[in-house]
Amino acid sequence: MKTKNAKAITCAELAHLQRVKGLPCSVCGVPGPSEAHHIEQGQHLTVIPLCEDCHRGSINGFHGQRRMWLLTKKTELSCLNETIRKLYAGHLLARSA
Ligand SMILES: [Zn+2]
Ligand SMILES: [Zn+2]
Repeated sequence: MKTKNAKAITCAELAHLQRVKGLPCSVCGVPGPSEAHHIEQGQHLTVIPLCEDCHRGSINGFHGQRRMWLLTKKTELSCLNETIRKLYAGHLLARSA
């Protein structure tokens, strides 16, 4: 983990990161805790939850050959949308009856 050049993080950003890490992997759906992948380095609000393999795996991972990403046709933005949807609308959906 590179933290040397990271900008200061606010309480709200830290809380958001913790919530995202509690979600299942955006790519393969394996239950959390997940790792938070930063779409842009140092921007803590645009992060997506990924399991270790879909994140850093040399074959499947985003920082590797991205095989699992190609297979599932997921993109960082589609994962971000899903992440925000889960954080904001998960409860609402669960209760609509
Ligand atoms: Zn995964
Ligand atoms: Zn990453």
